[in-house]
Amino acid sequence: MTTTITAAVSRGTDSPFTIEELDLDDPRPDEVVVRIGATGVCHSDIAALDHPMLEWPAVLGHEGAGVVERVGDHVTDVKVGDHVATSFVWCGRCAACLQGRPTRCASMRELNFSGVRADGSHLLHTEDGAPVSGRFMGQSAFASHVLVPASSVIVVPDDLDPVIVAGLGCALQTGAGSILNALRVTAGDHVVISGAGSVGLAAVMAARAAGATRIVAVDLLPSRRALATRVGATHTVDGAREDLAAAIHEALGGSADAAFDASGAPDAVLADVTVL
Ligand SMILES: [Zn+2]
Ligand SMILES: [Zn+2]
Repeated sequence: MTTTITAAVSRGTDSPFTIEELDLDDPRPDEVVVRIGATGVCHSDIAALDHPMLEWPAVLGHEGAGVVERVGDHVTDVKVGDHVATSFVWCGRCAACLQGRPTRCASMRELNFSGVRADGSHLLHTEDGAPVSGRFMGQSAFASHVLVPASSVIVVPDDLDPVIVAGLGCALQTGAGSILNALRVTAGDHVVISGAGSVGLAAVMAARAAGATRIVAVDLLPSRRALATRVGATHTVDGAREDLAAAIHEALGGSADAAFDASGAPDAVLADVTVL
């Protein structure tokens, strides 16, 4: 018994999303179905429109939040009714996964960007039975429901707004993980973070939590700089300044112990590297 769901279906770069009814496969023993309450839109969803591994049509979206609606027979750590964030798929068997670094999973590309399960089966079909690529970054969350491995959902408190939870699936863990796991920012560090979108703001919050004493946030928008200050930045710099590296250097009070770019702007990256 498949589930009829509603999804925003993509057919490539030049096609608009179309809202369609699709058939979602039943959960396998280790999978769960989540009814989506909110989903973020990440730049990777746009970049995916040119992704060579995806076959169209496809359902994108990878910042899902919602409520578990069905669970597979072997699922024990998540139950129906749990509020969850949904995230990427990892194999659980490669060296990186066994070392507790699932973002480095050796099967990351195949499991998250091929549109199918590891065994090649599709999760989504049109009403007339044609396959649709799913499990984009583990989720395909531009839909009323997603089908994910139980190991890809994180239970969150019931009273959290799914609009807030959705960012955990990509942006918040990307920003926080970069600061805590990759850069290993520690107490007393001076850190520059360029780009104060959700990734950069998560990095600011993580740097603050790690005890960094100077946290310089760089962004073009005054509203973003103000938000960065609210969540932990000690200084902000207008990314449009011509003397950007010098301005960041001054705000840091010297060189940076760590620099993180979430803007994608070459000028900002160059300035960040200059102050290291
Ligand atoms: Zn993303
Ligand atoms: Zn793995």
